[in-house]
Formats: sequence, structure tokens, C-alpha cells
Amino acid sequence: MELKNRIIECAKAEAADLVGFASAERFPKNDPIFKIFPEVKTVICLCFRVLRGIYRGIEEGTTFYQFSTMARQTLEETVLPIASLRVANLIEAEGYTALPQHRSNLLVKEEGDTNPEAPYKSIVAVGDKDLEMDFERSAVLCGIGELGFYGKLLTEEFGPMVRVCYILTDAEIEQDKIKKPHLCDGCGECAKGCFGHAIDEKTGKLDTWQCAVYYDGAAGIKNPFMNPKAFEEFENRIDIIAGEAKVDRKLAIRIMDANAFYPGIKNLFAACMCGRACDMACYDHLEKKGVLTKKFRSPFRKREPWQFPIEDFEI
Ligand code: SF4
Ligand code: SF4
Repeated sequence: MELKNRIIECAKAEAADLVGFASAERFPKNDPIFKIFPEVKTVICLCFRVLRGIYRGIEEGTTFYQFSTMARQTLEETVLPIASLRVANLIEAEGYTALPQHRSNLLVKEEGDTNPEAPYKSIVAVGDKDLEMDFERSAVLCGIGELGFYGKLLTEEFGPMVRVCYILTDAEIEQDKIKKPHLCDGCGECAKGCFGHAIDEKTGKLDTWQCAVYYDGAAGIKNPFMNPKAFEEFENRIDIIAGEAKVDRKLAIRIMDANAFYPGIKNLFAACMCGRACDMACYDHLEKKGVLTKKFRSPFRKREPWQFPIEDFEI
């Protein structure tokens, strides 16, 4: 069997759902892949579904912990690295060099920026921003999917409910076609779905500090663990709890330091309390349009999204 097919078989045996290949020539000359591995000839993307059932736990407000652990920690830190190591081993057994790349959640490209998925205190800026791959855009070049309005990778199988990792290799492997974008219709549901208003409704740009605050559960209207007297020391506490506060880095840090209603996850990641409502809103939209190829026996969204009345938090 040719190397490409053996790589696909190996990756799928390690739980990858989609595998895509791109010649390095398809990447811009200044792409980080050429700094990371100057001899790179092929970029291989492994794409894994995030279980729809785990998203549904937060959609219904019944279970939150599984999202932070299995949908993120276990996937990013166990499943993806093992799969990419196995594929890399297979490639190196053939005498080529293979360099796996998975997201480093504690690194950001710009000083002063943050990654909402990790505790802000643990985050450092990479000295050289050309040493961090663009994980979403590279998947598009590997033929895995397209970019949605809010910058997220959308696949025709699972919509935005996916995570990816890569193997860079000096083996020359036939590349796949880039997919013609056909999923994102600019409906804006992703931005509207974020109850912390972290996605700009006009540009789709993510405000990472705004996201960090609401990812962390500051919106009491969507957080069943929040003390009704929360944030007593904040003048705009009702705005914060309603998801209406506009925060900058300083205020975001104050809010996150005061937000301790849910046990922090004792690993690399911050607890996810928003359940990536942006992804859920986009998934619901794509599913209702009938454009996702992976079909389920019942719809993802079964009722109007829940929320607590803001009056519950008045003191
Ligand atoms: S919710 Fe709509 S605008 Fe946003 S990424 Fe999905 S399809 Fe595009
Ligand atoms: S829904 Fe959550 S992950 Fe998405 S932008 Fe809003 S806070 Fe960030």
C-alpha cells in the first residue's frame, strides 16, 4: 500500500476522523512551517470530531465538566499527540523525517494577548510569532474544510465541532484538493450565540480577553454554579453577570480572579463554562440548513437555549 494510504489508515485507527495533505508549496513563503521545519515538503492534518453529546451537556445545562476534560484536555493532550506520534513513527520508519505539531495552549503570538482556554497566569507570548502554526488556516490548505466568519475551521462533516493537529514531513506525498467554501453563509449566528459578546458582529474578530471572561463563566445567567451575590465589589456587577460588560485586559483579570464558583481544572486548561456557545450556534445553523454530511437521529438543539433571569442576581 502506498505511504499516503498507510498514513490515513494509521491515523484513523488512532481516532482521526479526517486526514488531509498539502504540499508545502501551497503555503505562503513566510509561513511558520518553513521556520519550524525548513525541509518540509508535505503538511498532514489530522482532524478529530468533538463529541456532539459533550456539547449537548452544556447546551442543556446538565453537565459541564466533560467538555473541559474529554472534549478538550483528553483530546488535545492525549488523543491528538498519540495519533500524530503514531503517524510520525510510520513516516520515520520509511526513512523520512516527521515533526508532529499540536496546539500549545499556553503560548500566544502577541505580548498582552491571552488564550481563553488556558488560565491567563500561565500564558506566555512566543518570542518569535513565526514559530507558531496557524492551526485553522493550515487545515483549509490541507483540504479539511473552510474558515467560518468567526475564524473557526468548519468541516462539512462536523461543522465547527473539531480539533486538529499536524505532522510536517520531508516526504513528498500527493496533496488533496482545497475544499470550495460552501458552509459559511455569513448568517452571524456564531457572534450572536456568544452571550459575552466576544465576537465582533461586523468583522467576526474575537476579543480574546472578553472571550476569556465569559469562557470562564462570568455570565451568571448561563452559569448554574454562580453565587447569586457574585461580584459584590464590582460597580457593574449586573452588566458582568448579564454578559453585557465590555472588558479590557485589566478588568478581565479582576473578574477572573473574583470568579471562583466552579472548581478550576487542575491541568493546563481553564474550565469551560460557556461550552463554546459560538460553536453550538454555528452547528445548529448548519444542521438546520442540512449542509452537514454527518447525520444524527435527532437535532442538536431540542429547545430554546436556557438562561437564568438576571433578577436572580439582584442584591
Ligand atoms: S454561524 Fe453562520 S456566519 Fe458564523 S461561521 Fe457559522 S455559518 Fe458562518
Ligand atoms: S461563546 Fe465562549 S468561546 Fe465562543 S466567543 Fe463566546 S466566550 Fe468565547
